This record gives sequence, C-alpha cells and structure tokens, in this order.
Amino acid sequence: MGRGRFHLKTLGQERSLSAFRVQAGAGAAGPDPPRGRVHLLGNGADSVSLTDYCAAALLLLLPATMFHLLLAARSGPARLLGPPASLPGLEALWSPRALLLWLAWLGLQAALYLLPARKVAEGQELKDKSRLRYPINGNPIYDFFLGRELNPRICFFDFKYFCELRPGLIGWVLINLALLMKEAELQGSPSLAMWLVNGFQLLYVGDALWHEEAILTTMDITHDGFGFMLAFGDIAWVPFTYSLQAQFLLHHPQPLGLPMASVICLINAIGYYIFRGANSQKNTFRKNPSDPRVAGLETISTATGRKLLVSGWWGMVRHPNYLGDLIMALAWSLPCGVSHLLPYFYLLYFTALLVHREARDERQCLQKYGLAWQEYCRRVPYRIMPYIY
Ligand code: NDP
Repeated sequence: MGRGRFHLKTLGQERSLSAFRVQAGAGAAGPDPPRGRVHLLGNGADSVSLTDYCAAALLLLLPATMFHLLLAARSGPARLLGPPASLPGLEALWSPRALLLWLAWLGLQAALYLLPARKVAEGQELKDKSRLRYPINGNPIYDFFLGRELNPRICFFDFKYFCELRPGLIGWVLINLALLMKEAELQGSPSLAMWLVNGFQLLYVGDALWHEEAILTTMDITHDGFGFMLAFGDIAWVPFTYSLQAQFLLHHPQPLGLPMASVICLINAIGYYIFRGANSQKNTFRKNPSDPRVAGLETISTATGRKLLVSGWWGMVRHPNYLGDLIMALAWSLPCGVSHLLPYFYLLYFTALLVHREARDERQCLQKYGLAWQEYCRRVPYRIMPYIY
C-alpha cells in the first residue's frame, strides 16, 4: 500500500485526497509516480525524499505559524516578524466548553452537509476512471422547486412514477367526464364541442396509459427530480388546468357544426399521428436499434456508443413529438370557438413549456453527445416546427 500524503499546495506539488484514496486503496492504480522528488535515503518506494522532510516540517510549522500570528495580534507590538510571543499557560488553552462549542459547530455543518436538498457534483476522474460525487451548496428554493431526489421510493412504490401517470392523468379524464355529465344535466345532452374535448383528451390519456412503459425514457423520469414542479404539476396542475376547455364549455356553451367538427377531428388526428409516430419510433430505436421497424433509418454515431436518428420523424425536426403534441393542443381549444382566449391557455402555456423543455434537452444532449449533436443540428436545423422554429 502506498503512503498517503495530504493535500499541501504549499509544496508546489498538488496531491489531492482523492489521489490519496486511490493510492491507499486496493492498489488499483499502483503507486503514484514520484514526480520531482529528490531522494535522500534508500531507493524506490521506501526512500525518504526532500519532499517528505518538507511535509514533516510543515506539520509543525503550520500550527506554530498560526499560534504565532494569533498571539502576535493580541500582543502590544503586534510584530509579524518579531520574536515568537510566549504561549499562555495550559489552563488558558484548554476549555471543555470551547471543545463542546467546536464539536457542536462541526455537527451542525455535518448535518447541513447531509441535508437531502442539495446539488451533487461529480469530481475529477480518478486513476481508476471512476468519479466521486460531492454534495455542494444548492439554491434551496430552486432545489425545492425542481427536487433533488430523482426516484424517491418506499420499497416498490415509486412516488414520481405513480404521480406522473395515475392520480393526475386519470383525474383529468374524470373531471372532464363529470363536466360532460353536468352539461348533460343542465342542457339535456352534452354538446358536440364537449364530446370532442372529452374524446380528444381521453385518447391522449388512454395513449399515455397504453404506452406506459414509454414514460420511462421521458425527461421527467430520467432527469428531473421529484420536487414541487412535478408533485404539484402531476397532482394539481394537470387535472385542474388541463380540463379548462371542458370547464369553459360548461359555463359558455359553444355552437359547433359538423363540418367544423370534422376539420378539428382531422387536426387532432394529424397531431396524434405525428406525436405517436415520433414517440414510438424513438422508443423502439432506444430499446432495440435493430428492430426491423427502425433498422433502415439513417443514424449518427456518438462517442457514448448510442446513436441518433437522423431520418424518419427525427430527421424532420429535432422534436417531432412536441410538434404533434402542439397540434393536438390546438385541436382541443378549437371546439371552444374563438370568442375567448381562456380555452387557448393550454396551447399558450404548453408552447412555452415545450420551447423551454426543448432548450433544456438541447443543452443536455449537447453535453452528452458533443460533436455528434452538433452534426445532428446541422443536418436537422429546425427544432420543433419545420421552416419556422
Ligand atoms: P423526448 O421524448 O423528446 O426525449 C428527449 C430525448 O430523446 C433526448 O434527451 C435524447 O435522449 C433522445 N433523442 C433526442 N433526439 C434523438 C434522436 N435524433 N434520435 C434518438 N434519440 C433522440 O422528451 P420528453 O420527455 O420531453 O417528451 C416525451 C413526450 O411527452 C413528448 O411527446 C412530449 O410532447 C410529451 N410531454 C407532454 C407534457 C404534457 O404536459 N402534456 C409535458 C412534457 C412532455 P437519449 O439520447 O438519452 O435517449
């Protein structure tokens, strides 16, 4: 086992505790090469070098310098380079209360360090190619909002996965249905607009539940922590604001003729076709790139070993699934007519959400895939909407 040397920048030869850890470990990386060491006694690993003497001297010099500085500051002449001030008696240096205070201070800091609401950063690559993870200061408000814990679970119960699909999404459909029944009670029968809104959104939720497994590759699951954003979003925001069109229709009945209803159905069908096609294509490709449904598509290789699709839906724009989703969002608002902006809230909010989400994903993909991602952007220049954005 190699001998560990602590981090002493003053030696001009920086050695980190991580290096110490690797060296002192199972010998994975072997002994540290003795860069710039002047050997005074013996050879190889057991020799004593000038560096070792310097380190030993500093073990004494550093505490002595600290004492000198503190005592000199309290003395009358306060001379930096004067003779060392005499040490006070032992009884002045030892105080159980001071020790307790010091331990309490360390304990408080350790407790804060262990708090779950913090950011985790990766350190530099070690000699065995691994990286240690360090909790570092986070922004508590931002951390609370975004969440730090990626997959909080109690045994098999995964809180984020559960909230993403079940209470909110199914709750949204139930609220819609309740509004449809209320309208039937008030008007005698549900309006065509109400049927369309209910039908479209039921299709969307049914699709999410049918393709339940696909949620495992979405950003929410793979990247975002389970904080306020997802907890509130899934349980409150989705069921109550996504059912806004049905709520609006209940209080503001809208006439809708069959021709217009057919056009709206066509828009929803186009949106769904793009949305489902793009999501399924990527999902199939990620699960098995040699699946016959995607094997013929053009790809770009990346340094990570994963490939990027550059033809098919993902060769049209860089987020075809968002485009399909937005087209459907438009179809959900159109049955409410054009007299009010309120039913279009979802479309506006969702556009902002997806533009922001797309930018976040771009940053992550650029970090993950580097040059290959730049090549993808060059070959597929539009993000969401061909020739527009
Ligand atoms: P995506 O499903 O679009 O996943 C993005 C990831 O796909 C990237 O990080 C990358 O990950 C992979 N990827 C990107 N480009 C390519 C490519 N060319 N070839 C292969 N893989 C690629 O992200 P989201 O999780 O944001 O969206 C999932 C669905 O959920 C979308 O349809 C979206 O519209 C919908 N959604 C709906 C919301 C709602 O409130 N109704 C809210 C948010 C999303 P990697 O390479 O690591 O696989």
